Amino acid sequence: MKKSRLLVIVFFLVLVVTMTPVIATAKSNARTLKELKNELNQLKQKQYSTNADKSATKSKINNAKTTISNNKTEIENNTKEIEDATAESEQLSVEIDEGKYKLDNLMSVYQIAKENNVYLEYIFDSKTYDELVYRSALSEQLLDYLNDSVNAWNDKIKRNDELKVKLAEKTQQLESDINTLSSDIDKWDDHLEQLDDVAISVADEINATQELINYYKSIGCGENEDLDRCASVRGDTRFIRPLNKGVITSYYGYRTSPTTGAANTFHSGTDIGGNAEGTSVYSIANGTVGMIIRKSSCGGNMVYVYHTIKGVQYTSCYMHLLTINVSVGQSVTANTVVGTVGGGRGTASYEQCSTGAHLHLSLATGWYGRTYSSYAQWKSHLVDPRSYVSIPAKGIWFYSRY
Ligand SMILES: [Zn+2]
Repeated sequence: MKKSRLLVIVFFLVLVVTMTPVIATAKSNARTLKELKNELNQLKQKQYSTNADKSATKSKINNAKTTISNNKTEIENNTKEIEDATAESEQLSVEIDEGKYKLDNLMSVYQIAKENNVYLEYIFDSKTYDELVYRSALSEQLLDYLNDSVNAWNDKIKRNDELKVKLAEKTQQLESDINTLSSDIDKWDDHLEQLDDVAISVADEINATQELINYYKSIGCGENEDLDRCASVRGDTRFIRPLNKGVITSYYGYRTSPTTGAANTFHSGTDIGGNAEGTSVYSIANGTVGMIIRKSSCGGNMVYVYHTIKGVQYTSCYMHLLTINVSVGQSVTANTVVGTVGGGRGTASYEQCSTGAHLHLSLATGWYGRTYSSYAQWKSHLVDPRSYVSIPAKGIWFYSRY
C-alpha cells in the first residue's frame, strides 16, 4: 500500500520534472521569429474569439433562464386563472340551479295563480291603474330577468370553459418551451466548459509562445533568421580558447609524426599541453553537440560541436578526452565543459595517437555528420584552429580563454 503510493508520487514527480517547460513548450511550427510572432497573433485572435463566444453563450444562458422564470410565473398565473374560472363557474352553476328553481317556482306559481286567478287577483288587487300596470309588468320582468340571468350565467360558464381550454393549451406550450430551453441550457453549459478548456490551453500556448519569442530575441535572432540555426549560434560571433591555460605542443598541418617518426604526416589540429588529466575542456563557442565518438583507436574519446559564427557553419572537435561531459543534441555555450583532458600514458583513455596528457583541437567548416559525413570530406574542410582561435605560438603560455 505504502509502496504503491510512493510509486505514484515518484511517477508524478518524474512527470512534473519531465514536463517542466524549459523553453520549447509551444506547439510551434515557426521557422523564424516573424512566423512565431504571427503564431502569437493567431493565438491572441483565438483567445479573443473564444472569450467572445464565452460571453455570448453566457448571455444566451441568462436569457433562457429569464424566459424560463417568466414562463413559470405565467404558468402560475394561468393556473390561478383556471382555478378562479372553475370557482366562478361552480358558483354560477349553483346560481343557475337556484335561478332555475326560482323560475320553476315562479312559473308554477304563475301557472297556478293564473288557474286560480290568484295572479290576476294580485294584479287586479292594484289600487290604481298605474299600480296595475306596474304589478303586471313586474311579474313579467321578474320572469324575463330570471330567464336572462340564467342564460347569461350559462354563457359565462361556456366562456370560462373556453378560457380554461385556452389557458391549458398556453400552459402546455410554456412547459414545452421550458423543456426546450432547459436542454438548450445544458448544451450551452457543455459548450461553455469546452470553451473554458480552450481558453486555458490558448492562454498556456500564448505564454509559451511569448517565452519562445523572448528567448530567441534575447539571443539576438533576426526576424527572418532560421530559428534552429540561430539557436545553435546563440548570438555568438567568435571562438575562444578551450582551456583556461596551456601551451601549444604541436601545430596543425604537415609534420614529422611524434608517434611513428614518419615525415610529412598530416596533423589535423592544434595540440595544447600543460594541463593535468581531468582539466576542464570548454566548447570554443556556443553551439550544439553534433557527434560523440568513444575510444577511437586514434583520437580516443572525441566530442564534435556544431557552431554558426557570423552565419558560417563550423565543427569543432576535442580529442583524447578522459571524460565526455555532454550528450549528442545538447546545446552548449562557450562556458560548457564538454569533457576533460586525457591522453596520458597508462590512463584508461590512452590510445596510440597520444604521447601524453593534452588536448587536440580540430576545426573544420560545415557540420561534420550533418552537411557532410565522410572522413575524407571532414579532412578537406579542416582549417588551422589558430586562424580562428587566438592561441599563442609554441613555447608561449596562455592563462585565460581570450
Ligand atoms: Zn593532435
